[in-house]
Amino acid sequence: MKFAIQSRRDAQSNELMELAKTYLQDFGLTYDEEAPEIVVSIGGDGTLLHAFHRYSHLLDQVAFVGIHTGHLGFYADWKPSELEKLVLSIAKKDFNVVEYPLLEVKVEHHNAESNTYLALNEATIKSPDVTLVMDVELNGNQFERFRGDGLCVSTPSGSTAYNKALGGAIIHPTLAALQITEIASINNRVFRTVGSPLILPAHHHCVLRPVNDQNFNMTVDHLQITQGDVKAIVFNVANERVRFARFRPFPFWERVHESFVANE
Ligand code: NAD
Repeated sequence: MKFAIQSRRDAQSNELMELAKTYLQDFGLTYDEEAPEIVVSIGGDGTLLHAFHRYSHLLDQVAFVGIHTGHLGFYADWKPSELEKLVLSIAKKDFNVVEYPLLEVKVEHHNAESNTYLALNEATIKSPDVTLVMDVELNGNQFERFRGDGLCVSTPSGSTAYNKALGGAIIHPTLAALQITEIASINNRVFRTVGSPLILPAHHHCVLRPVNDQNFNMTVDHLQITQGDVKAIVFNVANERVRFARFRPFPFWERVHESFVANE
C-alpha cells in the first residue's frame, strides 16, 4: 500500500511524521506523495483540511486519518501515544472506510468562465468593505435578499466548525445535506431575512446572485479566494465524497460530546 504524511510542520508533528514514515516503510509500505492510498495527517483539523485539498483530485482512491498533536480534533482524532497501534492497523489493512458528503461551489463569471471548488468544512462569502447584498435562490426560486456580513454554507462534517459558531445545527455526516447560515444579517423594518439556518437535502441547490457589482472574499475551508465579476455562486452537495479510514468505533455524537460538552 502507498502512503503519504501531511505534517503541521511544528517540531512534534515533524518528529511523529519521521517515526510514522520509518515504521510504515519497515512494514513494507511505500511512501508516495503523488498517488497515496492512505494519507496520515499529523497536527490538527487544519492540517487535515490542507491534506484534503492537496489530494482532492484523488478522492476516490485516498483514505484520510488524522493524529492530533494539539487538542482532540474532529478529523484528527488519534493521540500521538497511539502511533504504533495506528501504524500496525494500517500495515495489516485492519480498517474500515467511511465516506462523508462534501460541498461543491461553482463560481460563474459574467464572461461565461467558471471555477468549481470542493469544501470539506464550508465556504463563506463576505464583502471586503461594504455590506454584502446577495439574492438567495433556492431551487431556482427567489428566497430572500440578504444584507449583512456574509453567508456560510457548510457540509455535515463541517457543521461543528464555523457553522456551529454561527448558531447552525450540528448535522450527522451520514446525512447528505448542506447548511446555510447567516453572518450578522441586517434585520429591521426595511430589510428582512429568514434569520434561521437552512438545511437542504442533496437534490436541492442554492444560488447566490450579487446585487451590486462588487468583489467578494470567498473562503473554501482555510483557503481565501477573492472573486470579482461574479454572476452567480452555485452550491450543491457534491457528487464526490471524502473517505476516512476508521480503525475503531468513535461515533460522531461521542466526538461532539468529547469536543464540546465533556469536562477536561
Ligand atoms: P484551525 O486549524 O486553527 O481551525 C480552527 C479551529 O476549527 C480549530 O480549533 C479546529 O479544531 C476547528 N475545526 C476545524 N474543522 C472542524 C470541524 N469540522 N469540526 C469541529 N472543529 C473544527 O484554522 P484553519 O486551518 O484556518 O481552519 C479553517 C477552519 O477554521 C474553517 O474551515 C472554519 O471552519 C474554521 N473557522 C472557524 C471560525 C469560528 O469558529 N468562528 C472562524 C473562521 C474559521
